[in-house]
Amino acid sequence: MSALRRGLHKWHTACQRTDRLVERTEVVVVRLRGQQRRDVWRRHTRQLGTRRVGWSELVTDGDERGHVIRTRARTEDRVYRALPANAMRRLGDALVLWLADVSPAQDDQGGAMLESPDGRHNRRWAERKLRRARSRTTRPLVTVADIYRALGHGCRLCHDCHTPILAGCRIDGRWVNRARAFCGAPCKMRWRRRKRAATQRGPESIHANQ
Ligand SMILES: [Zn+2]
Repeated sequence: MSALRRGLHKWHTACQRTDRLVERTEVVVVRLRGQQRRDVWRRHTRQLGTRRVGWSELVTDGDERGHVIRTRARTEDRVYRALPANAMRRLGDALVLWLADVSPAQDDQGGAMLESPDGRHNRRWAERKLRRARSRTTRPLVTVADIYRALGHGCRLCHDCHTPILAGCRIDGRWVNRARAFCGAPCKMRWRRRKRAATQRGPESIHANQ
């Protein structure tokens, strides 16, 4: 039996007899920060006891999409930020998919990362983190979200985009050390720019605008 099946089996047998399966569907409007385009998604959730799974479908029907967009105020949109596609994030994604036994997309560069000379080291690092996370709980850690949390446990987050900084891994032949505050150079620059802009918008500039 695969690890995933075993986990699901445990999950089902661990549910309380009084737990009822609650199914919910809601329509959400999603937009990327700094962009005009709004997408309509149908979000489904199933909850059994304390465990919850959710998935979303993009609404592609023009009439339905148009109707939702016209009737929803922009202030109700869920606003997301485009995440940087850099080595740290690719490595994290590749390790999570590998541990969760999910095969990456064909054109995925992350899978190739695990084959590199650093890949062997990083895979062992990830296995160790997951093993430790499993030893801390009796709950089966099998979902992608569980594994993501296990790998990020104890890691600092990038100051700018909140990507877990995988201290102890190796990227391009170099160690990722614990003191690192950003996942990559663009994040560091963006954060500095924002900080500079915030100090320039100090009390004086507010008065000047009035
Ligand atoms: Zn970042």
